[in-house]
Amino acid sequence: MDCLRELEGKHAHDPLFEKNMNKPSRVFVPGPVIVGAGPSGLAVAACLKEKGVLSMVLERSSCIASLWQLKTYDRLRLHLPKQFCELPLTGFPSEFPTYPTKEQFLHYLESYAQKYEIGPRFNETVSHAEYHKVIGFWRVKTVGKKLEETEYVCRWLVVATGENAEAVVPEIDGMGEFGGDIKHTSYYKSGEEFTGKKVLVVGCGNSGMEVCLDLCDYSAKPSLVVRDTVHVLPREMLGQSTFGLSMWLLKWLPVRLVDRFLLIVSRLMLGDTARFGLDRPELGPLELKNLSGKTPVLDVGTLAKIKSGDIKICPEIKKLKRHAVEFIEGKTENFDAIILATGYKSNVPSWLKEGDMFSEKDGFPRRPFPNGWKGECGLYAVGFTKRGILGASVDARRIAEDIARCRNEEAAPSDRSVLMKTPPPPPPSFSCLELDLSRKC
Ligand SMILES: Cc1cc2nc3c(=O)[nH]c(=O)nc-3n(C[C@H](O)[C@H](O)[C@H](O)COP(=O)(O)OP(=O)(O)OC[C@H]3O[C@@H](n4cnc5c(N)ncnc54)[C@H](O)[C@@H]3O)c2cc1C
Repeated sequence: MDCLRELEGKHAHDPLFEKNMNKPSRVFVPGPVIVGAGPSGLAVAACLKEKGVLSMVLERSSCIASLWQLKTYDRLRLHLPKQFCELPLTGFPSEFPTYPTKEQFLHYLESYAQKYEIGPRFNETVSHAEYHKVIGFWRVKTVGKKLEETEYVCRWLVVATGENAEAVVPEIDGMGEFGGDIKHTSYYKSGEEFTGKKVLVVGCGNSGMEVCLDLCDYSAKPSLVVRDTVHVLPREMLGQSTFGLSMWLLKWLPVRLVDRFLLIVSRLMLGDTARFGLDRPELGPLELKNLSGKTPVLDVGTLAKIKSGDIKICPEIKKLKRHAVEFIEGKTENFDAIILATGYKSNVPSWLKEGDMFSEKDGFPRRPFPNGWKGECGLYAVGFTKRGILGASVDARRIAEDIARCRNEEAAPSDRSVLMKTPPPPPPSFSCLELDLSRKC
C-alpha cells in the first residue's frame, strides 16, 4: 500500500519511530488503526479512504478475510442473497449469482481491497491495546511471526476482529479417550475424507446442517446432535429469498406477525420439523434473532436428508468412549469421527484493555445495535451487530463519518485542505511523552 510505504519512508527520518533489536518497534500512526482485515475492517478502511483519511489495518493471519479463506468449507456460498452482503461503496459484479460462492465472495473482497488500496500489515496479532490517558492516544501492541513486537500509537482504534475470532470447542467427557478424529468446522473442508464413515456432527446451526449435507454428498453416514430448539426456514419462499421477504414485510408489519407468516409458510413447505426431531423455539425466528442473536437455519437441502433418514438426529452427548458415543438417554453408538459445529466467539477481552464499551463476558459491545459502534476516547467497533455483513456496513459508514468529522473539528480551519491529503504531524508534546513511554517499555 502506497500510504504505508510513504509512512515507512517518513519513519526512517522520524525521531518518533524507533526500531532497534532490543526494544519493540514503535510506529506513530497519524490516522486510525483498524484491527482485523475481514470484511468489516476492509469496509471501514474503504469508507475512511473515501473521506481522505488514511488508516492502518493490522491482521494476525497472512491474508485478508482469513475466516473465509482459511476456516470455511469448500461448498460454502453466502447464506444470504448478495444484495444483503455488499460492503459499502462497491457492490457485487452483476454477473455473480444470487448466492455467490466462497471463491466469488473472496474475489470480490480482493478487488475491493485493491480498489481502495487497502494493504494490511499481515502476521501481526494484536496482543494488547490500551488508551493512555495522559497523552490521549491508544497504544496497540502486536506480536509478529517471529515473535517480534511492535507498538502502534494512534488517536483512533477500530475493533474489527469479528464475532467469529476463536472457535468454541466444548468440553465433552471422555474427549481424550475417543480414538477417531475430532475437528471443529473451522478445519472441515469437505466430506471427501469421510466417505463410508460414520460421522457425528455436534451443533444444528447453519454450518452443522450444511456439513451434514456435504457428508451425505460424499457418501458418509452423518448423525446430527440436536440438544436445543431450532428454527429451520426454507431459504426461499414465494419466489423470494426468505431473508429479503422478511426485511420487506418488516417495513409494514410488526415482527410477531411477520414471524407468524414465516412459520405458516415454512410449515406448508417443510412440514412439521418437530416430527423429525427439530423442535421449534417458543419465540418466532425474527423475535428470537432480535432478542438473543440466534440465527434461524436457512435450509439448503439438509431437511430432505433428515426426512429420508440419510441424516439421523441424536440427543445430547453424555460421554465419549474409545470408538463410541454415549448419549444422555442411555444409548451408545459407534462413530469414526466427530465434527464440532459449535460456533465461534469474540476474542476482544483477551487483548483490549478497557472496561466500558465491550462486555468482558462475551466480547461484544454492551450497547446493542444500532448503538454499539462507538465508545469513548476514539474507540469504535465494527461487525459486532449479529447482523452479518449488512450490519457491518452500517457500522463502517458511521465510523468513517465520525472519525472524519472529528479530524476536521480538531484541525484549524486553515489547515483543513492540507489535512485531508497528508497525515497530521504528531502533537508538539508527543516527543517528551514518547520518552516517558520508552522508559516504561
Ligand atoms: C460459515 C459462515 C458463513 C457465513 N455466511 C454469511 C453470509 O452469507 N452473510 C453474512 O452477512 N454473514 C455471513 N457470515 C458471518 C460472517 O462471519 C461475517 O458476516 C463476516 O465474515 C464478518 O466479517 P468481520 O470482518 O466482522 O469478521 P471476520 O471475517 O471474522 O474477520 C476478522 C478478522 O480479524 C482478524 N483478527 C482476529 N483477532 C485478531 C487480533 N488479535 N489481531 C489481529 N487480527 C485479528 C481475523 O484473523 C480476521 O481476519 C458467515 C459466517 C460463517 C462462519
